[in-house]
Amino acid sequence: MLEIIVPALWTLFAIYIVWYCTSAKHYVPITSTEAKMLWVLHKNDVRCNAKRWREVRRIGKIVGFECECGCKHIQKRPLVSSAPALRIDSENSMLAKLDSSKKASFERD
Ligand SMILES: [Zn+2]
Repeated sequence: MLEIIVPALWTLFAIYIVWYCTSAKHYVPITSTEAKMLWVLHKNDVRCNAKRWREVRRIGKIVGFECECGCKHIQKRPLVSSAPALRIDSENSMLAKLDSSKKASFERD
């Protein structure tokens, strides 16, 4: 009997670990401004003509929006995810390019 139960439990545990690492998600709180920006992006993406939207809340925090057309967006993130990569170098190089282009335009004038 034990030879059947132990492998079955290990299999269930392995399935749970795979689900947890790949599919399990939690809500990400966003601000009202971010929800409105997402709604405007939705309107532009699908050419939605709706005039109204409402915030979707979970445990008192805004986690998404619901459009008048019925579209609903909930901001979610996987429970297991890598930290966002730092892009400080690229931003600095972008600022350097911006500064050099400004300097060039000033020198031309
Ligand atoms: Zn819509």
